Amino acid sequence: SALYKIDGWGAPYFSVNSSGNVTVRPHGAGTMDHQEIDLLKVVKKASDSKSAGGLDLQLPLIVRFPDVLKDRLECLQSAFNYAVKSQGYTSHYQGVYPVKCNQDRFLVEDIVNFGSSFRFGLEAGSKPELLLAMSCLCKGSSESLLICNGFKDAEYISLALIARKLSLNTVIVLEQEEELDSVIDISIKLGVRPVIGVRAKLRTKHSGHFGSTSGEKGKFGLTTTQIVRVVKKLYQCGMLDCFQLLHFHIGSQIPSTSLLADGVGEAAQIYCELVRLGASMKVIDIGGGLGIDYDGSKSPNSDVSVGYTLEEYAMAVVQAVKFVCDRNSVKHPVICSESGRALVSHHSVLIFEAVSSSKYTVPTMSSFDIHNFLDQLPEDAHLDYDNLSESAIRGDYEACLAYVDQLKQKCVEKFKDGSLDIEQLAATDGLCDLVAKEIGLSNPVSTYHVNLSIFTSIPDFWGIEQVFPILPIHRLDERPTKRGVLSDLTCDSDGKIDKFIGGESSLPLHELEGENGMKYYLGMFLGGAYQEALGGVHNLFGGPSVVRVSQSDGPFGFAVTRAVPGPSCSDVLRSMQHEPEIMFQTLKHRIEEYVHDEGNMVGTMIAGGIAQSFNNMPYLTVGSSCCLTAAN
Ligand code: PLP
Repeated sequence: SALYKIDGWGAPYFSVNSSGNVTVRPHGAGTMDHQEIDLLKVVKKASDSKSAGGLDLQLPLIVRFPDVLKDRLECLQSAFNYAVKSQGYTSHYQGVYPVKCNQDRFLVEDIVNFGSSFRFGLEAGSKPELLLAMSCLCKGSSESLLICNGFKDAEYISLALIARKLSLNTVIVLEQEEELDSVIDISIKLGVRPVIGVRAKLRTKHSGHFGSTSGEKGKFGLTTTQIVRVVKKLYQCGMLDCFQLLHFHIGSQIPSTSLLADGVGEAAQIYCELVRLGASMKVIDIGGGLGIDYDGSKSPNSDVSVGYTLEEYAMAVVQAVKFVCDRNSVKHPVICSESGRALVSHHSVLIFEAVSSSKYTVPTMSSFDIHNFLDQLPEDAHLDYDNLSESAIRGDYEACLAYVDQLKQKCVEKFKDGSLDIEQLAATDGLCDLVAKEIGLSNPVSTYHVNLSIFTSIPDFWGIEQVFPILPIHRLDERPTKRGVLSDLTCDSDGKIDKFIGGESSLPLHELEGENGMKYYLGMFLGGAYQEALGGVHNLFGGPSVVRVSQSDGPFGFAVTRAVPGPSCSDVLRSMQHEPEIMFQTLKHRIEEYVHDEGNMVGTMIAGGIAQSFNNMPYLTVGSSCCLTAAN
């Protein structure tokens, strides 16, 4: 486990047991040893055939742990509760979950359910997100906040006002000054008194990757001039009492508590000024940004780590708000945060299989082959070969590499102009590889082909090169003998993972066992936020299968409480407006037209094979026999 730094990024939820398998401690630090869940057993349960007692789900697979989610939520709440108490803060913390991080229905319902005793709410940034937040919060506490962010049209504003009419604690946060007129007009028409917030554009700027939208020139929010105009307009309309919340968002993955305190302090000062101008301020909403330690380094200088704990984050926020409010003799506001990443990243694990690895074999060449080949080399390339041999004998490896390059280049040019045939080119490559191997310069990194689409399941790796912890979920009691990069199923050169936590360009991996051996399962951890919500359907690979797993007292120590197969080929085709039923009929007619000579049996088998392909997931069906092959 030290090899993969699991104790750094995984504690208290993930560790390795004595069998060498990754285990999950669903209740975090509060988990008893006997409650640990062996991830390999979950994968077997999910993927084994029905006859073997499994659920027959195809990989890749997302395993969700609602208990982990509950623990994260409770840890966040208790960190703030502790900070509030210890600082003598006279109001409370009341968070919301920004649903854009992962809109999965059961996840959002879980958050509302687990958080209802401490009035945990939701944040929406679009009309469909608002609709889902409205319906979910009907089952939560009536005091839970429903924060409406994002750019708004009249329909969005009407929906938000209707939500207020339905007694949901809705706040319309102005992202643009122009939204105010619509809010005033529509609220008068609907006869609903709105609660209004404003997103402030702070001067404090987060310099990391995720901070590009923060600062004075950031994309979102109102400047101080605009905020003052909002106050004036609301005053003129007799609605200044509706202005109750100040929101800001510095950016995701805030690296340090000093930057956090700086931003919160600036916002708290704006809050106090709004109180002075007569607004009925009640809530300061500090946005998201509570970071995750993806690489276990606990370093504020890494884009994928942060230099604070949850407790330190909460303490910095409470102290900064209290300090500024006390200085201005302003009543302490309710502190709201919109932590997404920190809440949901840990709750799911993406499991996928390595199906093959490129076995890089340096060709062997007899001295006859070499001479035969040398005879065919052009004169100038001969010289390169002689230089190469001499520098190899001298032990000058740098010169060796340079001659290898030159030799290759010349031969490729000859091949392109038609004067070298493909066997000669292959022999050149072989010769160069042989030399590289002899002087110990051949690349020892293998490519492991994984049954996964990076574009669908790890889009942040492709889009912003964000690394996530990835490791085998078993055989961790066995020292890996190889190093590998991961290549996915898409026919795209970007579909490759060659950056890993700790700045590594390859991953320690085990030798894949033979065809009849155990499958090799890898897990991508901490991807519960954003990855599912952002993933696309590049090459028409849809999302993974999903299981929800809770700890139980049964023989396995866990129970699968929900299992959903991933989208089939038909489903993904439909998402691009194709009509699988009509496509199938077209192909069936073609079968009748072209295969009738071979008899009905063959036609039926082919039609059955095609029908099955429409119903299967787009991923490789590893190890199972396929109807089409049978028909051949
Ligand atoms: N709130 C707003 C307005 C955001 O833009 C974001 C994400 O960028 C969040 C909350 C969630 O941030 P995080 O996932 O870093 O907590």
